[in-house]
Amino acid sequence: MQRILLLLILTTTTLFSQSQTELSYYLPQDVSLNPTIPTPQSVLGHNVGEWHVTHDKLVEYMKALANASDRITLEDRGKTFEDRPLLLLTITASENHKNLDAIQSAHIKATESNSANAENRPIVVYQGFSIHGNEPSGSNAALLVAYYLAAAEGAEIEDLLKNTVILFDPSLNPDGLQRFAYWANTNKNINLNPDPNDREYSEVWPGARTNHYWFDMNRDWLPVQLPESRARIETFHNWMPNILTDHHEMGTNASFFFQPGIPSRTHPLTPQLNQDLTKGIATYHAKALDKIGSLYYSEESFDDFYYGKGSTFPDINGGIGILFEQASSRGHIQESENGLLTFPFTIKNQYTAAFSTLEAANSMRKDILEYQHNFYKNARAEASKEGKNAIVFGDEKDAAKTYHLAEILKRHRITFHDLKSDFSKDGKNYKKGYSYVVPKNQKNTRLINAMFEKRTTFEDSLFYDISAWTFPLAFNLDYTETTTANAGDEVTDLKQHKGGVSSKSDYAYLFEWHEYYSPKLLNAILKKGVRAKVAMKRFKANGTSYDYGTIMIPVKNQELSTSEMYSFLNELAQQSHITITAVSTGLNDGIDLGSRNFSHLELPKIALLVGDGMTSYDAGEIWHLFDTRYDIIATKLDTKSISRADLSRYNTIIMVNSNSGLSESSTKKLQSWISNGGTLVAYKNALKWLNSKKLMTIDFKKNKLTAKNITYEERSDFRGAQVIGGAIFETELDRSHPINFGYKNDKLAVFRNSTLFINEDKNSYNNPIQYTKNPLLSGYISEQNLDSISKTVPFKIGKIGRGKIIGFTDNTNFRAFWYGTNKLLMNAIFFREEM
Ligand SMILES: [Zn+2]
Repeated sequence: MQRILLLLILTTTTLFSQSQTELSYYLPQDVSLNPTIPTPQSVLGHNVGEWHVTHDKLVEYMKALANASDRITLEDRGKTFEDRPLLLLTITASENHKNLDAIQSAHIKATESNSANAENRPIVVYQGFSIHGNEPSGSNAALLVAYYLAAAEGAEIEDLLKNTVILFDPSLNPDGLQRFAYWANTNKNINLNPDPNDREYSEVWPGARTNHYWFDMNRDWLPVQLPESRARIETFHNWMPNILTDHHEMGTNASFFFQPGIPSRTHPLTPQLNQDLTKGIATYHAKALDKIGSLYYSEESFDDFYYGKGSTFPDINGGIGILFEQASSRGHIQESENGLLTFPFTIKNQYTAAFSTLEAANSMRKDILEYQHNFYKNARAEASKEGKNAIVFGDEKDAAKTYHLAEILKRHRITFHDLKSDFSKDGKNYKKGYSYVVPKNQKNTRLINAMFEKRTTFEDSLFYDISAWTFPLAFNLDYTETTTANAGDEVTDLKQHKGGVSSKSDYAYLFEWHEYYSPKLLNAILKKGVRAKVAMKRFKANGTSYDYGTIMIPVKNQELSTSEMYSFLNELAQQSHITITAVSTGLNDGIDLGSRNFSHLELPKIALLVGDGMTSYDAGEIWHLFDTRYDIIATKLDTKSISRADLSRYNTIIMVNSNSGLSESSTKKLQSWISNGGTLVAYKNALKWLNSKKLMTIDFKKNKLTAKNITYEERSDFRGAQVIGGAIFETELDRSHPINFGYKNDKLAVFRNSTLFINEDKNSYNNPIQYTKNPLLSGYISEQNLDSISKTVPFKIGKIGRGKIIGFTDNTNFRAFWYGTNKLLMNAIFFREEM
């Protein structure tokens, strides 16, 4: 009986999928199609939905379409980390293409003047697909959407294309899409197998959701740290789309979701009308999905809070962002609570939502164009009330970090100025070339608020993602309110600080540790075999003050000659944008250069644990940091390989957040490596694991919370409110401790998304980083947790034999834009012997 049933399932699924992948399954039947436009099958060699399209084939098809259709132009906007092109198709009526520049400038002008006519202007819709590579129905549907837009004939499509400019981004994550297609296709049976236990439906670590360095790119729309985002954000600001759609997938047992999300979780800077229009657009999705018999829901999950997500970013930029979530078949067909879920069915729903969006855009065109016009009209009124108000940010000792925040402003078309002249406020010095002034009275004033504001009160206590991202805190920059009286020239050509060596020395060179790229410089120095030392105390040389952590390179008794040393350092200093100072005497005010308080440094030889058990995002952030910013080579050591690897090659091993830890044998091996002098840098739940294995003794603060007056229905909200989804807290630093070298202030903002609290040590010198009494700077935390975090410590050192464990409860490298705490990790690596 069982066998017959199985056979029945197999036969039906095979048949099912064959008929489901024909064009007629997806496309409307009553429309004639231009035969000169190539079908997807004619270029890919297979029907859509039969195999998972690889990015290479997707590119080939989009090129073929652009060649064949005068409705489509194709633009290559740059490369992913793996050298794949970042394509954009502009799809509109051929007459519109003839004067696209005029359409574009009229569209932008409507956001910049108080009068604009919506009558004859096309609406601009940005359609983006599969930013998560393993949510492939979007990009696979994009093949069909683009085909239909090119090939369909008749009054309806002509009307749509006349009134709409479509910015079509068929694959928001090319590297992830390619990785997933490889997985799903290589595990496919001829006889499709819907058993969820099949290998086809569970990818190996790290999966294909992310890009090359394992980033979730749908969190990078505001920080814009990744090449894929940079291309996309440039298109966005060039065009200022009215609607932007973001096609995703969710769990297999779900149905289909379209926004609005949970109303109480909308960011307060987003106008209510944005949500009302989203709801208006939603009626078109509902109608279209009703027609094909698909189940769906809205308003019960997801939200519009964090502006770094694709469906929320447009909301602070006069547009309307819309999230779609389709239940995922993951591979080609999978059992689900809603019956057999086929890949073609998921594609069909995405296709349907893409067209219901375009139908809504066309029908609601005038209302939505007026909404954007008024958004900026109102923003201008708010901006002019600001008058001469401005924000100044900077770091008198770190030009590079300042530059990188300015770079984000530039990417978002926010204008800013050089400082007119140095000034001080609240004990902080703002120095020309190390600070910028941002006038509030400008077009993107609302975006400036979204980036710089601190927020600690919220309507809801649950968040889909982080609740705070205050940029100057993330960058650990000084900032304050000022006026445009302090503004010099507008910065049009943003440049990095030019580094170099002050002059040639026969004695020694010095540089402070504050600049962002100082670890890059030191690493290159040590890698060359040049001896360098770190100052454990402050001193004055030649009238100049040098802080804790100053690096000293003696000239004599090195393998490089005096002049080789000069040119070697000069070149490195330029590459790292750092000024190195030549000194001619060892006699200082304070410690002299030959003092024992200059400690000898050894090149870090690093292994980064990756693979099963490790959080891929956190590992990817470190890989990206080392590889793209500091030119540090770290071995990505798979947890499966620890037992056969020669660990003595490394003096530093990094273990990111991990819930499961390592196997017994790997744990033993790691323990003996530490005993022999190795340094393990461990993060977040890896500390809990180390504590449970007695490799480190940690006094975690216990937080007992019982529900009082909470109903059964309210239970998950109650639990959710105790989550720290991502908020910013203030710590106090003991700057004389090597973990804090290179920090010039006594306070440091840190990002936290865990509820691990470590009690302070009874010896104060063991608490070099400590949360202040009332540490919340920005974001949501429950009262109970805020009470718990007070005066606890996010940093702890444990010793085993001759080695040590350096532990952090918080992620110091969050999403590539937390520049402010990267140095904590660098200090743990370079000054591990000094702690
Ligand atoms: Zn997704």
